[in-house]
Amino acid sequence: MEPILEIKQLKKYFVTSRGTVRAVDVISFDLLPGETLGLVGESGSGKSTTAYTVIGIYAPTSGKILFRGRDISVPVAKRPKSLKRAIQIVFQDPGTSLNPRRTIGQILELPLKVHRIGTREERRRRVAELLRMVELPEDYIYKAPHMLGGGERQMVAIARALATEPELVILDEPTSALDVSIQAKIINMLIQFQKEMNLAYLFITHDLSLMRNVAHRVAIMYLGKICELAPAVEFFERPYHPYTKMLLSSIPVVSEEEEKVKPEKIVSKGEIPSPVNPPPGCRFHTRCMERNGICSEAVPEVVEVGEGHLVWCHLYGKKEER
Ligand code: SF4
Repeated sequence: MEPILEIKQLKKYFVTSRGTVRAVDVISFDLLPGETLGLVGESGSGKSTTAYTVIGIYAPTSGKILFRGRDISVPVAKRPKSLKRAIQIVFQDPGTSLNPRRTIGQILELPLKVHRIGTREERRRRVAELLRMVELPEDYIYKAPHMLGGGERQMVAIARALATEPELVILDEPTSALDVSIQAKIINMLIQFQKEMNLAYLFITHDLSLMRNVAHRVAIMYLGKICELAPAVEFFERPYHPYTKMLLSSIPVVSEEEEKVKPEKIVSKGEIPSPVNPPPGCRFHTRCMERNGICSEAVPEVVEVGEGHLVWCHLYGKKEER
């Protein structure tokens, strides 16, 4: 199957008064139609910058972003309208992503108007359909965002993202600002929509445990680089990278099977270094319990340790180009 999204050697730097922030520093991955890739990392890992570069909020410093084989490595204003319609995003905080001066009906109709989809009557029916899809009452079209709860607002944000029938949706921590009780409902909805519409999701999160039941593949980012990328089952059962093991050792498990494969508790050493002045060699070496001499000198290249299981660490095998 051809990938819907290909990220090739992507780099995004920001020049600031403190120096150059290397937010994303040469990463590559792809995403298949109907697939969820979980892009996981701590704050400052570069996962959100990656998402905003894919959606076109930022232009890449270098590298390529291909959507269905077409180069879209430009800001969103320069992208063809058909591509803007095909790629949508759901932000973390629906409180700020929904315009407070518009009604829910206007918010849901706007992308249809922008993309000249349907007559006025067709748009009205589509808005009602979108509200039904996310299980909100039709009379919500008259309400303002502040009259809704946080979970309901996020459902509106999801409905808005689906209005133009996209093929790829970027989910930027879509549940992290919500109560636990509503998180499961939103996740189940997203999974159902993916099955019905064959949507590809790039799911940005700091919550690794959430990816166990949501992602088909998981990629871990640390200080602007990917450390490990693997099919989800393989990722949780056979993690290789010391940073992945550290993250996995601290997440809760709910079954005996999960307990069996959970790494021993690994306590993190120190803080994440600044992306303005990242450590040389392996970026994780200042916190890694398994580091050796080469780790602070050479950037690890990618090694394929299993089918589709990629690790960037000097501890493992023969080096391959990527
Ligand atoms: Fe640790 Fe070295 Fe592997 Fe980096 S390359 S994760 S420092 S062992």
